[in-house]
Amino acid sequence: FDPSTMISDACVSYGTINKLNDETSSLLHSITHDTDFFSYYRLNLFNKECPFWSDANSMCGNIACSVNTIESEEDIPPTWRAEELSKLEGPKAGHPPRKVQEERPRERPLQGMLGEGVGESCVVEYDDECDDRDYCIPEDEGSAGKGDYVSLVDNPERFTGYTGPGAHQVWDSIYRENCFMKPMADELEEQSLNVPVGGLQAVSDFRNMLQKESKRLDGLPLDNECLEKRVFHRLISGMHASISTHLCWDYLNQTTGQWHPNMQCFKERLHEHPERISNMYFNYAVVSRAVAKLRKHLQSYTFCTSDPSQDIETKTRVNKLAEILSRPPKIFDEEIMFQDPISHGLKEDFRNRFRNVSRLMDCVGCDKCRLWGKLQVNGYGTALKVLFEYDETKNGENPPLRRTELVALINTLGRISHSLAAAHSFHEAIKEGRDTP
Ligand code: FAD
Repeated sequence: FDPSTMISDACVSYGTINKLNDETSSLLHSITHDTDFFSYYRLNLFNKECPFWSDANSMCGNIACSVNTIESEEDIPPTWRAEELSKLEGPKAGHPPRKVQEERPRERPLQGMLGEGVGESCVVEYDDECDDRDYCIPEDEGSAGKGDYVSLVDNPERFTGYTGPGAHQVWDSIYRENCFMKPMADELEEQSLNVPVGGLQAVSDFRNMLQKESKRLDGLPLDNECLEKRVFHRLISGMHASISTHLCWDYLNQTTGQWHPNMQCFKERLHEHPERISNMYFNYAVVSRAVAKLRKHLQSYTFCTSDPSQDIETKTRVNKLAEILSRPPKIFDEEIMFQDPISHGLKEDFRNRFRNVSRLMDCVGCDKCRLWGKLQVNGYGTALKVLFEYDETKNGENPPLRRTELVALINTLGRISHSLAAAHSFHEAIKEGRDTP
């Protein structure tokens, strides 16, 4: 991309994002790899069934698909161990009624139960119920026994061999069912109830045609669509592109057993589809704007892992990151979205569709892919929540930010940042005629 070209629907050029990424990538890497707070993620990886179809036949049996969860509580920071959490909660353990949750101050220490200086991330988080303003289905962080801790560093996102109809069904569902195209196909199907014999076949043909068309157009988010729909499409396509970049970058040569970047993989999945790479840049703009918007919140956030010196270091680094990302120019302007009175209800539709994407992650038949899929969808969902539901100038009325959301947000930015750097290395190699970056 020409560095001076502006990224569609964002407020900056490719060159500006490249510079910003160069400046922040090692800081971001140190936050996601060297701090306990951001390298452990708790999620419900195994206990949720796909709510849309039976996925029994599309499970990935490769060893690369597996995830090492943390079996022993000794291996996670003491603050998050069930034993410690139950001590903190004492006789009050249990899920408080929804009303109590709403009344409790969310961003301050739970006075009386914990004492001064103990922050939100130090306590068991009750809010595993969906808040109306959430863009994702929460990952049960606070429900003892419902989730697993996973080290993100020990389970890197890379090639797993998960492929075929199972993987395609998930991507297809995300694009077709959740990208504002569904009404068109459904409408047609409804109309087909009134058509003579052969009509259903025609509908099915049309559906296939639509599917092919959506593939042909993939990443070209329909310029005549409204901004909000384009943004939705770009987010999904950019996430897909980032996942593809990582699997091409850390690819397993099944003949030699070696892991290395795979040029052919990159060429086919990304280089020949520049709009997919453009969507990754767009996602960088969206997620980093969300982190910038949290700057004030992060200044008073208590990072809590039972290692005070590490917690201070974590906070210093995160604040530095938020400060750099907050520098002008504003990378993405969320204020222009959902403004058109004609599109009343669009925001709710947008949010519901994004929640569906988050539900679809339970249909991914590869544990490792599901882990990173869930984390990134949660990261984008958190970015959307911060952009559209969060007011920097207010304190008490803002929606709560769970630890899992913050971890997902920063790690998602880390993933996109790494994808942009990997894509750059691939491009340089292609330009210079090398067969490896
Ligand atoms: P796919 O990547 O499956 O794409 C399907 C179709 O979508 C393509 O034919 C194309 O028409 C369209 N498409 C592709 N990319 C884009 C884009 N960026 N924008 C718009 N449209 C696009 N595999 C791993 O090895 N490691 C992982 O960590 C991993 N994580 C995954 C996470 C999720 C949530 C899912 C659903 C799958 C994951 N997979 C992972 C599988 C991987 O994404 C591919 O599905 C698989 O490698 C097969 O690739 P494919 O070339 O057939 O096309």
